Amino acid sequence: MPFSEILAQSAATDYLKKCILGKMPQAMLFCGPSGVGKKKTALEFAKALNCLDESARAKGDCCGVCAHCQAIDGGRYADVVLADFVYQTRLELKAEPTDKSYEEDFEKELAKQQSIKVDTIRDITAKSQQKSATGGWKVFIVDEAQTMQAAAANALLKFIEEPPQKTLWILLTDKKAAMLKTILSRCQPLQFAPLPQEAVEQLLQQTMPETENISLAAQYAGGSLTRAFRAAEALSLLQSAEQGPAWPAAVAAAMPRTAVAARQQAQAVLDVLTLATHRAWVACEKEPQRKKLQQILKKLENYKIAVTRNVSPAIAVETALMSWDKCNIPLFS
Ligand SMILES: [Zn+2]
Repeated sequence: MPFSEILAQSAATDYLKKCILGKMPQAMLFCGPSGVGKKKTALEFAKALNCLDESARAKGDCCGVCAHCQAIDGGRYADVVLADFVYQTRLELKAEPTDKSYEEDFEKELAKQQSIKVDTIRDITAKSQQKSATGGWKVFIVDEAQTMQAAAANALLKFIEEPPQKTLWILLTDKKAAMLKTILSRCQPLQFAPLPQEAVEQLLQQTMPETENISLAAQYAGGSLTRAFRAAEALSLLQSAEQGPAWPAAVAAAMPRTAVAARQQAQAVLDVLTLATHRAWVACEKEPQRKKLQQILKKLENYKIAVTRNVSPAIAVETALMSWDKCNIPLFS
């Protein structure tokens, strides 16, 4: 897929094309909300740097179909490394992919990941010092860069300061303010904007055509494709149970059984309820009702915190729905 197909981020992609055709920074920081295409753009950029199609490269783009482009898409290109929580889990997991319990162990360990650790940074910085397999560009992408512990960030510093020739570091973050100043000062920042609602809708249609409530989920997405996926799932869960006095319990009963999936779903449901309540609050002109909606918003925030702290996600959702349901807030319009 060429750059031209990345939706609604033309300021960022135009800048990157200029880099390919002109002077390349040694390290870049892609900043912006999650789910707006930072990771996708970083990988497309790596493809544009290594594409075998010279005519595409001459335009600062990639062909998307040559052996290099396909290998990068498939995560099999040795010179392009995406260090994210999935990569880190693979590094840390003791089990072998051939073990029976591998999938289950992998999911469990992945769910525990909260920061990019120093061992992961050491692994990729060592790779950055190795000779390129193809003689092309080596691109190292660090996802959730704001979660790097101090030791990890310090281990990265000298490598982003003096990378070998044709080596590029790309750090991705949705919380630039949480990053070390020493890292920030060494990276060329590139801002990504929230996606317009129409772009979210279009992407949902392309990637999950069978999804119900596509345009509604796009409304609830706040410009993020990740949030749109979660909102679509939350809406279909809320719709799956019949409205009425038993609705809160029925929704809770239909939630996933595993703790990690249930927690994620609970967060998504609470996010959707919060946005619907906020919308009702903005539209409401009667003071007593506005106060009531404000109280609901406060309660929903508390439930969101509770879900992160070992409260059962199903109980949090059921209780939240019980108080929310009494306010007649439109959810599906
Ligand atoms: Zn190509």
